[in-house]
Formats: sequence, structure tokens, C-alpha cells
Amino acid sequence: MNTGAEPLVDFHTHSHFSDGVLAPAPLVERARQRGVGTLALTDHDTTAGLAEARAACEASGIRFVPGVELSATWRNQTIHLVGLQIDERHPGLEAHLARVLARRRARLGEIGERLEKRSRLPGRELAAAASGSTAPTRLHLARVLVERGFARDQQEAFDRWLNRDTPGHVPAEWPTFEEAMQVLRDSGAVAVMAHPHRYRASAGQLRELTATFARLGGAALEASMAGMSPNDADRIASLCRRFELYASMGSDFHDPAVPWNPLGRWLKLAAGLEPVTKLLTTAP
Ligand code: AMP
Ligand code: MN
Ligand code: MN
Ligand code: MN
Repeated sequence: MNTGAEPLVDFHTHSHFSDGVLAPAPLVERARQRGVGTLALTDHDTTAGLAEARAACEASGIRFVPGVELSATWRNQTIHLVGLQIDERHPGLEAHLARVLARRRARLGEIGERLEKRSRLPGRELAAAASGSTAPTRLHLARVLVERGFARDQQEAFDRWLNRDTPGHVPAEWPTFEEAMQVLRDSGAVAVMAHPHRYRASAGQLRELTATFARLGGAALEASMAGMSPNDADRIASLCRRFELYASMGSDFHDPAVPWNPLGRWLKLAAGLEPVTKLLTTAP
């Protein structure tokens, strides 16, 4: 519970319309209880939860920021881009998301086939059990693998069955980084690079990625996340300063059962950084 004077913000959360556990309304209620004053819902590649989240925020007096987290490929690596203040009815965005969701459904089936062929797992059945969400992800499959006793926890499910060099690995084939950035630009979104500290990239590669992001109209880097080491925070803060990017902050909340990652972050930032809040024009 936030008992301080300053309200918390959260610009990165997931509902059960992608791989979050909660429906949007209970997610908003949980955010309210924690003292979150400004909330974005940013499901993977879908805007299907925004209407419910908006209505719940209006009823709770929370400032709502419609968002989405796009999957994209940059040099064979998956990069996530959060779009804030998106126009969810923009035809270009809708077409883009429809294409990615079709790809997500096909990919889940392909992972099931591979598990069936390359291991003794009932892959097709597991994929079917994981396919209920609007935006099915590998996390849905990881949860089913744990439920059925094929992995002790989600991390093991990824390490044993889903990641590169495992029986169920299927290369992602997301839209390119440039395409995803263009969709965000066209739909008027504030583009945020999600969790830049988590990519497997050298300092030079991350600089190049950030330079490309800034050149394509990117506005902010996620600079305050749970699980960021002080060293990570320093690295990302320097990138923000170097490329004159704003700082975003969010939990990447998926599941209330993960105690170390609650909803809500402080606006407090390292010296010289400006919060992405300054770019938002939605009514406070
Ligand atoms: P997908 O977009 O279908 O590849 O699924 C990726 C989602 O799975 C991410 O957004 C995370 O929520 C989750 N995820 C990815 N890797 C891991 C991991 N090693 N352990 C737990 N969750 C993961
Ligand atoms: Mn996720
Ligand atoms: Mn992500
Ligand atoms: Mn996320």
C-alpha cells in the first residue's frame, strides 16, 4: 500500500487478454488499492482489454493511458515496444495487430507439433489448452507445462521446452523493428522501448539499437523497473541522456502471485532524466 503523498504510476501491465492472470477490472482495482494514480494497460499485441480497463479506471478515479506492447525483431532478437496513448481504433494498428495475433496462434500450434515430434509430450493437447487467450504467448504454454507436471516452474518450462536449443523452440518471426515503430508513429503513440536492460546485447549493440529507436521517433526508454540492478539503471539512464530520451517506468505486472513485482513505480528518477508523463496529454 502506498501511504506516501506522491501517487504511483505504472506504464507497463498485462491482463488476461494477453499473458497476465487478472482481468482488466480486478487489475485496476488492485492498482487502486496500491495507490496507483496513472495506469497503462499494455497487453502483448492486443488492445482487446482497453475498454474494460478504461471503464474501471474512470470508476476508480485513476488516470488511464491506453497502451500496447508490440513484439518486433531486430537482428534476430525479439525486442518489445510499448506504445502509450495509442489510438486503438487506428486502422493501420488494427491491421498490424490482426496479423501478429494470427502469427501467435499459428506459432502456438507449431510449438505443439514440435513438442509432439521431438519429445514424448502431448504437444498438440498442451498447445490447445494454452490457446484460450486473445493473445496466446509462450507463457500460457509454460503455465500448462507446469500444471501438467512437465516442469517444476515457469523458468524450467522455458529452459527445458520452449527456449532456443530445446524441443519446442520455434523462431518468433515478428514484424521488423522498423515496421513496429512505423505503426506506433502512424497511430500517434508515444513509443517506449520496453525493458532495454534485459536484451542480450553488448553495450555497443544496445547503443545502436537505441540510436535506431531514437531515429525512428522513439520517445522513451523504460528506466525504472522491478529487478533492475543499480548497474542496469545507470546504463539505461546514460542511454536516455545520450539520445535525449524520456524515462518510462512500469512493473511489467503479470501475476499477483509474484510478490517481488507489485503494481506501481515511483516517479523519482536519476538526475537529468525526465519522466515520460510529460509527453502524455490524456486528462489527469
Ligand atoms: P512470447 O511473446 O509468446 O514469446 O512470450 C513471451 C512472454 O513469456 C514474455 O512476455 C514473458 O511474460 C514470458 N517469458 C519469456 N521468457 C520467460 C522466462 N524465461 N521465464 C518466464 N517467463 C518468460
Ligand atoms: Mn508477458
Ligand atoms: Mn516484454
Ligand atoms: Mn510486458
